[in-house]
Amino acid sequence: KIPNIENELMKSYAPGSPERKGLEAAIKQMEQELPFEVPCIVNGKAVKTGKIAKQPMPHDHARHLCAYHEADEATVAAAIEGALQAKAEWEAMPWSDRAAIFLKAADLVAGKYRYRLMAATVLGQGKNAWQAEIDAAAELADFLRFGVKFVDELYAQQPSKNAAGSWNRVEYRALEGFVLAVSPFNFTAIGGNLPGTPALVGNVVVWKPSPAATYSNYLIHQIFTEAGVPPGVIQFVPGPPAEVVAQAISSPHFAALHFTGSTFVFKKLWKDISANLDVYRGYPRIVGETGGKNFHVVHRSAEVRNAVLQSVRAAFEYQGQKCSALSRLYVSRSVWEGGFKDQLLEEIAKIKVGPPTDFTNFMGPVIGRPAYDKITGYIQKAKDAGGEVLIGGGADDSKGFFIQPTVILTKDPKSVTMVEEIFGPVITAYVFEDEDYEKTLDLIDSTTAYALTGAIFAAERRALLTATNKLRNAAGNVYYNEKCTGAVVGQQPFGGGRASGTNDKAGSISIFYRFVSARSIKENF
Ligand code: GLU
Repeated sequence: KIPNIENELMKSYAPGSPERKGLEAAIKQMEQELPFEVPCIVNGKAVKTGKIAKQPMPHDHARHLCAYHEADEATVAAAIEGALQAKAEWEAMPWSDRAAIFLKAADLVAGKYRYRLMAATVLGQGKNAWQAEIDAAAELADFLRFGVKFVDELYAQQPSKNAAGSWNRVEYRALEGFVLAVSPFNFTAIGGNLPGTPALVGNVVVWKPSPAATYSNYLIHQIFTEAGVPPGVIQFVPGPPAEVVAQAISSPHFAALHFTGSTFVFKKLWKDISANLDVYRGYPRIVGETGGKNFHVVHRSAEVRNAVLQSVRAAFEYQGQKCSALSRLYVSRSVWEGGFKDQLLEEIAKIKVGPPTDFTNFMGPVIGRPAYDKITGYIQKAKDAGGEVLIGGGADDSKGFFIQPTVILTKDPKSVTMVEEIFGPVITAYVFEDEDYEKTLDLIDSTTAYALTGAIFAAERRALLTATNKLRNAAGNVYYNEKCTGAVVGQQPFGGGRASGTNDKAGSISIFYRFVSARSIKENF
């Protein structure tokens, strides 16, 4: 029996606490030592291609956290070849040994490496201490530990009947070939989870991390190695993204894609994979979590204070750069005028924006130049479409990519910032008449192509039920009287449908079924 699994407890980082000192010291040390040099890792060996790219720090873009060696064609080819060679032994390793490796990795994440991983997330990805704790410490450890528990439960799923004189069983084989993991910048935990999930069930993985999360992801690779993942099982091949991915999916041994990123890229990869179908030995598994256009709807019976605070957190924590972040806010007129609007603006006015190394800042920078331009461009588009900026709207990229928390009020519920994903600290609010609640639910459902997360705020339980029924396919994660971000591994399986992804539910047993190919065996005695 595997050890008992619990969610990693989150530390407070209160001034004077040991964890605060630990994190501050780790950030200071990292600042003194940077920039780091990051190689590709193929078959356990560092490969320095000499094709250098940089990971700038979003709060101070003149400096970079690391310079990394981009994988070239020969390196990607060697990574695929080496992974295939490592496969037989990895797959044949007893489950208890593979499980122990990932449990040890989780302990390294939550213990020895906690503050370094967090520091890399703070400096490289612009997260504040609390957001880094949620992500790089707690969620990453949870993904690994609960992953062990889910796989253990998966392997135990066996046929319930045997005819007399025979025994039926199911063997959960790893996929034939290798898995390509393509991970995003916005969660260090997802960086670890995308290669970790398929590897847990015995797959070998070629992992292309996000250029904007290279250093934290490199540390995760080191942790995997230290925990005992054998050479070749997880190959670390940072950028250039399009080339690495194109080469990997043109291999006849490509067996699955595990992706988190933009809808645009995911659709493109799906088409490219389809075009290569005759090259592969089997039908590749395609698993992706992509964009969102997530909503809060505030019913006339809602508790105002809670709805306000939850909305502020959902919209502006990590600068709105979570796939799950709040982006469209629908508020019943009596609530809006009865305190919601004033409290919302009051709370937002208190938000401090600045470098994440100053722990008093609630918001840090957005990830980089393209994001900055895109987000500020959307604020402009909203104004052009007649939207009223209630607060924020300002931005400053002189040192880092800082954008003020912004609320746009619109009279047109289908205006551009109600429909398209922005992925930044901008929400668009729409006020509906109290008696139009049901009509508004239909509007929410038909406004956008996405369906990732949403929250309903209402004290009247009937209103929750109405929303549940009307918004059946509008979100993969729904919250009642709580914000639409912050799914916890093992508690709220995460993922959405429609343009938001394949809804295979990270943080649950479901996703592991996608990375195994079951074999039924019947034996007669
Ligand atoms: N699981 C995260 C949440 O619930 C979001 C993950 C993502 O941004 O992809 O907030």
